[in-house]
Amino acid sequence: AEEALRQSQKMEAIGQLTGGIAHDFNNLLQGITGSLDLIKRRVAQGRSNDIDRFLDGAMTSAQRAAGLTHRLLAFARRQPLDPRSVGANPLIASMEDLLRRTLGEDIALELVLAADLWPTRCDPNQLENAVLNLAINARDAMPDGGVLRIETANSQVDAATAEGTPGLAQGSYILIRVSDTGAGMSADTIERAFEPFFTTKPTGQGTGLGLSMIYGFARQSDGYTAIQSEVGQGTTFSLYLPRHDGELDQTLEMESDDAIAET
Ligand code: ADP
Repeated sequence: AEEALRQSQKMEAIGQLTGGIAHDFNNLLQGITGSLDLIKRRVAQGRSNDIDRFLDGAMTSAQRAAGLTHRLLAFARRQPLDPRSVGANPLIASMEDLLRRTLGEDIALELVLAADLWPTRCDPNQLENAVLNLAINARDAMPDGGVLRIETANSQVDAATAEGTPGLAQGSYILIRVSDTGAGMSADTIERAFEPFFTTKPTGQGTGLGLSMIYGFARQSDGYTAIQSEVGQGTTFSLYLPRHDGELDQTLEMESDDAIAET
């Protein structure tokens, strides 16, 4: 659980880092478009003075931008997903102390964990991050206190439901629901909530990356996320993760071992 807190601080730092990089990248792009614009004008005027200098300027900016993306890629590669068979109930239960400390005294925590919850397959660290991020969002939405409820359930998604829900495929899932009794979200905010860098929080308090990372995590895990919210009533966040058949894991591991042995 302490690890989860450190992870979340790390994500906060990553958020600031990414925001800074996007800003730098944008500045470099402006340097390039500015130089190109000047060159275009010279050409239109039939003059060639300074064109070399503008070209050099554009080139330097482009090279710096390439350097930035290389550093970003190197950074991204250091955090590979590590999917495995996961019991969501014990994972959430192990976070109880951390969650209570994060929520403070004015917010009650209710854990409603389904008996016989199916195992799922995902990166357990990412799941922990997701739950912690959802709890932090819920806390921020309940400045005057309230209730945070985390529920787990088995969920069978039939063809009709999948048909009516773009992004959710038919099949067996576990469902993790995080609900608060907080400020809620407007239709506009719900629509944009998963966008990277979208935040309604004051500068320095929100990175706008929490929900976008959860969205990415769900997609990479073949899961699904949904928000139900009403202004003044509260928000329910649903995270679907695929049911995992424990026996399958071994087969997969054997296959990959074989593959490594052959190469
Ligand atoms: P951040 O928390 O850094 O703002 P997120 O991506 O986690 O970034 O959330 C984006 C936005 O979605 C928040 O700024 C907030 O407006 C809204 N939001 C997220 N969770 C909740 C919640 N539980 N209740 C109300 N609004 C929420």
